Amino acid sequence: MDHKEVFELLPAYLDQELGLSDAIAVERHLGNCSECQHELDLQSGVTAQLKKDVAYFKAPTHLAHRIKAALPGERSPSTRFKNWNFNWLNAGAVIVTLLAVVWSGTLYLSLPSAQERLTEELVSSHVRSLQVNHLSDVVSSDRHTVKPWFNGKLDFSPTVVDLAPQGFPLVGGRLDYLDGRSVAVLVYRHNQHPINLYNWPSTDRDAAPQVQNRQGYHLVRWVGGGMEYWAVSDLATEDLESFVGTLRSQG
Ligand SMILES: [Zn+2]
Repeated sequence: MDHKEVFELLPAYLDQELGLSDAIAVERHLGNCSECQHELDLQSGVTAQLKKDVAYFKAPTHLAHRIKAALPGERSPSTRFKNWNFNWLNAGAVIVTLLAVVWSGTLYLSLPSAQERLTEELVSSHVRSLQVNHLSDVVSSDRHTVKPWFNGKLDFSPTVVDLAPQGFPLVGGRLDYLDGRSVAVLVYRHNQHPINLYNWPSTDRDAAPQVQNRQGYHLVRWVGGGMEYWAVSDLATEDLESFVGTLRSQG
């Protein structure tokens, strides 16, 4: 360690902030360098002077008592309970907590149900897939190409059927993320209208197709064979229902 380095480290050395090896290097240099030694003496003099002259107030006894009382001590639970009852500060805290509970409860009640949130997510996903022209990650009308594409990408293997003869050609597939999980999306078309068919494993009871409308899109949900399905499209409801019927008869 050279003179300049040691000189810069002197304040840290004085405050005992240096690591052991640095402190030893500084001491070794101090033994051979009168300039650094002199500087050290000056700085330690300042420190000593500060410690001696700095204003120092003794805490009043009542403050010490209050601080002690506020600190968690070894008071018995019953004393603590008594204090809890009669401390207005705590009472205030209880009221604030109650208000927060009531408020968050109201907020919770006004939140959409999980099912509504899922429907919203599905519509957003459908719209996004149209906007960014990201309908398919695998573009193929061949189910023997689309089905293996999902291998290793999901923890289930979606059923893929082509419905071209029935007027709903398969155009591809992609992955999406809905309701906190990865899902398979199969993309079909009918008269240039895309149909996104979302599906993922479900523990729900089998449920017959049900139509919902949201933001001008139609959604059909059903559960069968341990899978939940959602078909989303801007197709006319009867066309979308016809798609679902055809699909279910093939599956
Ligand atoms: Zn030096």
